[in-house]
Amino acid sequence: MTCRSISILGATGSIGASTLDLIRRQREQWRVVALTANGNAADLARLAREFAAELAVVADEAALPALREALADSGIEAAGGADALVAAASLEADITVAAIVGCAGLAPTMAAIEQGRTVALANKEALVSAGDVMTAAVARHGTTLLPVDSEHNAIFQCLAGNDPAHVRSITLTASGGPFRDWSVQQLAAATPAQAVKHPNWDMGAKISVDSATMFNKGLELIEAHHLFPVGLDKLRIVVHPQSVVHSMVEYRDGSSLAQLGPSDMRVPIASCLAWPQ
Ligand code: NDP
Repeated sequence: MTCRSISILGATGSIGASTLDLIRRQREQWRVVALTANGNAADLARLAREFAAELAVVADEAALPALREALADSGIEAAGGADALVAAASLEADITVAAIVGCAGLAPTMAAIEQGRTVALANKEALVSAGDVMTAAVARHGTTLLPVDSEHNAIFQCLAGNDPAHVRSITLTASGGPFRDWSVQQLAAATPAQAVKHPNWDMGAKISVDSATMFNKGLELIEAHHLFPVGLDKLRIVVHPQSVVHSMVEYRDGSSLAQLGPSDMRVPIASCLAWPQ
């Protein structure tokens, strides 16, 4: 297999760690171009050294001196600030993993899309906040946009080789989160620690809280609407506490295709890294 190049935006987060775990297993097959973080200079420097990244960027400029110090004598370029983040996302890489949390990921993700290569998108907030702009840029630049989110990656797999015009419905599954069975009285006393303790998935803090409130599924419905434009009336959500079926597509002959797998983000990320194999 030939060596491919990769950049990871949000390398110090949960999705970043899962991606790098996969890269670590096939180290000789990957050249790491850029790794980015917000302010966690120590972890970013450690990862940049381990993976021999060409560039390490902290979005928070205040963390740049610490990053520079931690990378001294490594030969790895260090940079900081919003412009440096966008410049890192613009570097040529076969695949860029967009794994920054929140709308802070929008500008760098757009910069990666504008390179016209492959973007593996975890940063759902960017798509939710600017879906039409983003999908238009994907079309304009001939970019391949691959969904990392487990439900959307499942749908992508279930659509493969089939005509979207034959889709009767797409069903996103939802675990229901840690508070699914809680009474209104119990909810009133819920703590942040309980909110981030997801029963099936180990994720970053924001998406864990969004899962506890079910807001995440709202974001995912909008995400699905932009990624798979079959019409909102064909998009459904069902609560499936076991998180075994990650999503399913029903076709007009009445048959459904579903993707099942472990609750481990390395599965959909690996699917994106290996695509189209
Ligand atoms: P984490 O909070 O674990 O990691 C977020 C990453 O983004 C870190 O590298 C962080 O850097 C960086 N970051 C945070 N704020 C900024 C900022 N203002 N500017 C630049 N970089 C920033 O998040 P997750 O990995 O859980 O989630 C990442 C995205 O993937 C989210 O959009 C989430 O919805 C989506 N997703 C996550 C899943 C999961 O299992 N975790 C599943 C499906 C989707 P630092 O470490 O320095 O703070």
